[in-house]
Amino acid sequence: MHALVIGAGLVGLATARGLLAAGHEVTVLEQAPALRTRGGAVTVWPFGNAVLSVLGVHPETAGQPITGVDLRTPTGRTVLNCDLTGIAHEAGAPAVVIPRRALLRQLASGIPIEFNANFAGLTHTPHGVTVTTTDGAQHSADLLIGADGVHSRVRARLVDATPARPTGMATWQGLIPAPFAPGTRMTMMLDRTRDCGLMGAGDGMLAFFFNVPWASGATTPANPLAELRKHHRGFAAPISDLLEALTDDDLELFPHTRHHIPRVWGRGPCTLVGDAAHGMPPVMAHGLNQGLEDVAVLMTELAGRSDLSKALRTYERNRRRRAVLAGALARDAIRLTGPAALGHSLPMLNLTSLAPANTGNAVLGTLLRSLSHRRHDELSALAVSRPPAALHVVRASAT
Ligand SMILES: Cc1cc2nc3c(=O)[nH]c(=O)nc-3n(C[C@H](O)[C@H](O)[C@H](O)COP(=O)(O)OP(=O)(O)OC[C@H]3O[C@@H](n4cnc5c(N)ncnc54)[C@H](O)[C@@H]3O)c2cc1C
Repeated sequence: MHALVIGAGLVGLATARGLLAAGHEVTVLEQAPALRTRGGAVTVWPFGNAVLSVLGVHPETAGQPITGVDLRTPTGRTVLNCDLTGIAHEAGAPAVVIPRRALLRQLASGIPIEFNANFAGLTHTPHGVTVTTTDGAQHSADLLIGADGVHSRVRARLVDATPARPTGMATWQGLIPAPFAPGTRMTMMLDRTRDCGLMGAGDGMLAFFFNVPWASGATTPANPLAELRKHHRGFAAPISDLLEALTDDDLELFPHTRHHIPRVWGRGPCTLVGDAAHGMPPVMAHGLNQGLEDVAVLMTELAGRSDLSKALRTYERNRRRRAVLAGALARDAIRLTGPAALGHSLPMLNLTSLAPANTGNAVLGTLLRSLSHRRHDELSALAVSRPPAALHVVRASAT
């Protein structure tokens, strides 16, 4: 089978690797002139990393394996800690924070990508699809995967032209040479109106984020660092040390948006993966991980059925519930305004610290399990039974 993948982002490339490993022919069409390597770091949770591992990609070789997550008050008091070693053992892969560009390069290794190929439209029958790019070129294939991100044109043509909606929040984030040793645990510090965090990202780098309320259409401040310092005045180390070390140039703003996730993600031999299907706020690091779940489920459905359209609709049906759950959690996990913000008030956070010692592990473990189909064993069997043709397995850092 010949598959066209629209978009060479993290999920499009992971899908291409899965399709190649399953013995299919793949062409990736990317609108940009080269891989888009901007952006900070991403967290790959253990079940997402298990999928990457089956695809021959090992982020722990370039990123920072993470052993736990600590939730702290602004004074630095730890109210909940979650150990990730048990769930890493269960998944067979660690949680890793890795610079986006490093993961992108690992995923792209060995993948045929046509750059400057901007998707403009498509026609399809039950048996095939033809894509037109803005330069007038046509590409025909048996299968089309729209992986063109949250502003997906493939989605608009296939299922839903409604743009993703702003959620009223935004993230300032970045990746800098670590001004202090970040260790192997993620630190999150929050109260009723503030939420931020930091973690090592491998190779001496530190990733950080500050979530802030953000009105749709607001103008970006000229000196965001001064505002962040003012807003987080009185925060203990390590956030105080981070704010001291940052410059305005280190900060990138990402206003949050969220898709309505439709029941059906495609038509005929066409479907969606990643942010094109389920754009969600970056809170709790689910977007890429949900995209990797897409890849695992899509590959197992494609392997199990001869009717392509039916296999794609089954994939969409199976994926929808977890994608909706992840999107709702990403929207609701931080509420920095309104009554729900009371959940992050200091009395509530202090109450959390009275919970039994393994509460954090149980909560995070349950959450990560409930968002994963844990299909990597099936996927692994598929990849092994059909050795990849055009694929180089990446073990060393590709940066
Ligand atoms: C600040 C921030 C932090 C995040 N942190 C995490 C995290 O820690 N963990 C996590 O799991 N997720 C995280 N996410 C979410 C994650 O980055 C996304 O879910 C993931 O990158 C989506 O990948 P994708 O391939 O679906 O889309 P994208 O990465 O958006 O890629 C889409 C690709 O399609 C191309 N394209 C677009 N239109 C066309 C067209 N017309 N023709 C051809 N090509 C086209 C684009 O150029 C791009 O290369 C974060 C997101 C943000 C904003």
